[in-house]
Amino acid sequence: MSDRFLPVAEPDLTGNEKRYVNEALDSGWISSNGDFIRRLEADFAEYCAARHAVACCNGTVAIHLLLLAMGIGEGDEVLVPSFTYVASANAVTYTGATPILVDSETEHWNLDPARLEEAITPKTRAIMAVHLYGHPADMDAIGEVARRHGLPVIEDAAEAHGAEVNGRRVGGLGLAGTFSFYGNKIITTGEGGIVTTNDDELAAKMRSFRGQGMDPNRRYWFPIVGYNYRMTNIAAAIGCAQLERIDAFHERRRTIAAQYSERLGSECEHFGLQLPHEAPWAKHVHWLACLRTPAEQRDPLMHYLSEHGIDSRPFFPPLHELPIYSADRFHGGRPLPGATELGATGLNLPTFNSMTEDDVDRVCLRVLRFFTAPV
Ligand SMILES: *Cc1c(COP(=O)(O)O)cnc(C)c1O
Repeated sequence: MSDRFLPVAEPDLTGNEKRYVNEALDSGWISSNGDFIRRLEADFAEYCAARHAVACCNGTVAIHLLLLAMGIGEGDEVLVPSFTYVASANAVTYTGATPILVDSETEHWNLDPARLEEAITPKTRAIMAVHLYGHPADMDAIGEVARRHGLPVIEDAAEAHGAEVNGRRVGGLGLAGTFSFYGNKIITTGEGGIVTTNDDELAAKMRSFRGQGMDPNRRYWFPIVGYNYRMTNIAAAIGCAQLERIDAFHERRRTIAAQYSERLGSECEHFGLQLPHEAPWAKHVHWLACLRTPAEQRDPLMHYLSEHGIDSRPFFPPLHELPIYSADRFHGGRPLPGATELGATGLNLPTFNSMTEDDVDRVCLRVLRFFTAPV
């Protein structure tokens, strides 16, 4: 058995990435104008069946841009799952609004539609669904609550490029969707992000905020305080090459996830483990393979794997456990048992395109050995 170090994630840059980056360099368009920006925006919008895509410098900024364009700010509240990456809530905080943390369900590990209503107040301006680890949130049920209260739903799809709800891709399911192209995401631009929307006015506002707030019809005239949140043409060149191969990337991840399930599935009940499963209405894109264990065994398992050259990472600690978001005003004193349980019991296992069947076998063998012969 090879002892090659297995990282949790690794980008696959074996397509046209180098070629396109060199084309960008040769063209001299290395900042935020250029053909690759336009092409990435057009191709990604089409991919998500959205009218517009606005590229920007990372996935956190994508959320910030969207909230700015929605006019969200001081005195407003945005509902966010407590079980998510910190960026989802931080972007709300940047605007002066308050992220209100909502619990997650423990089957697919996303925002629990049944816990939304109790968190809605007259200050609520939007509901942010997050499609965690590649499995989409229950957008139909979330949308139903949102409609009852006249609220827009926005999607943080940073971990779920290409995931589907009832055959429709994320990013085109609510008012707008945001994506990250960080190096460990399903497709990457190094650092980068994008917002998709069908709303013309929202897209125009995001383009303005992205470029210092300049009036599109009057150069160097700035009616609003904007930002420099642009993506470079070099980053977009990488993104265009990645998007060409997204179907193949999904296929690889699906195969790897299926191998994990095959090898570990029969032992789950015995050792109190849980693997992800796909809701009947969902297409899961398996950003990172996930495993839940009894809480007391999660960290020792990660330690054991690391001793055998296998990287893993814990699930996100729920935001309500972070000192920056633990105050009552972020969750109205409501308990968030789902998020707490998920944060304490989950880990991500290596998932990347060049992983071989032997690599997955090796990880599974170590996981099973940990549970059968604890060290
Ligand atoms: C990665 C990620 C982000 C932020 O993306 P960056 O490109 O790292 O800024 C936001 N939300 C979620 C759920 C993420 O996983």
